[in-house]
Amino acid sequence: MTKIVLATRNKGKIKEIKELLNTLYPDLNVLGLDSFPHIGEIPETGETFEENALQKARTVCQMTGLISLADDSGLVVPALGGEPGVYSARYSGPDATDEKNNARLLNKMRGFKDSERYAYFVCVMAACAPDGQTLIARGKWEGQIALQPEGEHGFGYDPVFIDKESGRVAAEMTREEKNKISHRARALKELLKKWKTFYTSTLKEEVEKLGR
Ligand code: IMP
Repeated sequence: MTKIVLATRNKGKIKEIKELLNTLYPDLNVLGLDSFPHIGEIPETGETFEENALQKARTVCQMTGLISLADDSGLVVPALGGEPGVYSARYSGPDATDEKNNARLLNKMRGFKDSERYAYFVCVMAACAPDGQTLIARGKWEGQIALQPEGEHGFGYDPVFIDKESGRVAAEMTREEKNKISHRARALKELLKKWKTFYTSTLKEEVEKLGR
């Protein structure tokens, strides 16, 4: 049975990705980083979502010898020059919390016109195989920054993000509703479109290696 490892300890992410991959490949054994306690925190030093996702995927692939899959995500506000961007998690400093991050964002955007409140979430997923092959997919969720936090669900910037299509705040959506339209869902859908070619050529390489 082929194993792949997801470069995350987040149980929600592991469950979501495992379910989707196993629908297509029931024989795939999808593991999370919790199965590899010796792997510590993986640094995110890149300047783009792509660099960070690839860095995480490559590190975990090298440390486990397995196909790995990593994601990096965040919120982009073009009127703020792309902030908080790759610094979304730590926007309000070293002891950042979701509340502090949202407060900093809303403060910076005080007085912004409607058109300047345009924003989008980005999620980049990267896969890496032991033979060095990589695969990248990107998902984008467009919306607007609210004037004040609303709703009780979700995490991060969900209370200040209004979905463009429905006009609803992300934190007012159930997990099921958000999982259908989020940047993560879109990136995963994109990734799965390209997965078959990546996966089969990786497997071919493995089989050839065994025969050598
Ligand atoms: P990560 O790369 O998935 O760990 O996400 C980095 C940061 O981006 C999180 O800590 C959140 O602040 C923000 N973020 C990513 N995805 C979401 C989302 O779906 N809702 C709200 N905030 C998010």
